[in-house]
Amino acid sequence: MFSNIEIGIDLGTANILIYSKNKGILFNEPSVVAIDDATNKIVAIGSEAKNMIGKTPEKIHAVRPLKDGVIADYNLTTELLNHALKKVGKKLGFSIRKPHIVVCTPSGATTVERRAIQDAVRATGAKSVMLLEEPIAAAIGADLPVAEPIANVVVDIGGGTTEVAIISYGGVVAYQAVRVGGDRMDDDIIHYVRKQYNVLIGERTAERIKMEIGYALLEHDRLSIEIKGRDLVTGLPKTITLHSDEIQQAIKESLLVILQTIKTTLENCPPELSGDIVDRGILVTGGGSLLNGLNEWLVNEIDVPVHIAPNPLESVAIGTGRSLPIIKKLYNLAK
Ligand code: ADP
Ligand code: MG
Repeated sequence: MFSNIEIGIDLGTANILIYSKNKGILFNEPSVVAIDDATNKIVAIGSEAKNMIGKTPEKIHAVRPLKDGVIADYNLTTELLNHALKKVGKKLGFSIRKPHIVVCTPSGATTVERRAIQDAVRATGAKSVMLLEEPIAAAIGADLPVAEPIANVVVDIGGGTTEVAIISYGGVVAYQAVRVGGDRMDDDIIHYVRKQYNVLIGERTAERIKMEIGYALLEHDRLSIEIKGRDLVTGLPKTITLHSDEIQQAIKESLLVILQTIKTTLENCPPELSGDIVDRGILVTGGGSLLNGLNEWLVNEIDVPVHIAPNPLESVAIGTGRSLPIIKKLYNLAK
């Protein structure tokens, strides 16, 4: 048994991660719970639940307890957290008791939403729960000097949202969020395939299409992928080939919304910090930053250097787990 371990949790809309400074990433699974409608019981959590999406009898359906980075279903969120902590215990070989937990919250979360996150984490038996704003966590995870009086811009393209924050001296000085992220692109693809081919595809297929042949708004060598769906006319399975230029058109609007959000935040930057941004550029993180060509497209569009985080799917969790000494340092600085 091991008490008082310090861990960081990234309670994302798409994925939940747990990180410890000494042990690294201890847990990384989709934030999904599968429920049996007949009994209202949970049948699977995390990766197992995500694998069931679209493949199970109709009476089992998948729920995402987090929406837009905040809690949509409190009880299921605590189940998800308990599942995660139990698995961490298994991995470590001892059950964690009364851990100190830092958990991140979107900068746009209300006081009530923050409180709900804190309560849900505390309900797992944590000894202490500290909240950290997500963009600051992402910046720490990517080794940016957040405690300095230097502007750092973080763009986090997650599942449900894209958040853009300018950070200086440990605080968020400008912030914009939009409810468009990677999941919206999956929806765009589902709609496109339905309209264009009369074929219905599932969420997981759409995500795979996006990851393999999805492209930011750039010219590129055309890619293609063969996928299976259900023909809406005959009702039978059908195989079709999709190309990257059509998928690019399908996700174009969502990409433009993300771009506009970045531009607006940069335009609202306090003038004293603009120089830093021109010199230092922006850090793009979150799973959406892995879209093919995203870096190059953003460079073309916004005229400042663009860096993709070294581990975009993990940087918030890593930053959360590493943040305690930095938070303490900031606190001392402020005294
Ligand atoms: P959240 O913080 O909301 O949980 P993540 O940062 O984990 O979200 O990002 C999840 C999103 O990133 C999903 O929409 C997923 O489809 C997308 N994503 C993951 N890998 C890739 C990839 N290689 N290309 C494009 N999108 C990706
Ligand atoms: Mg995230």
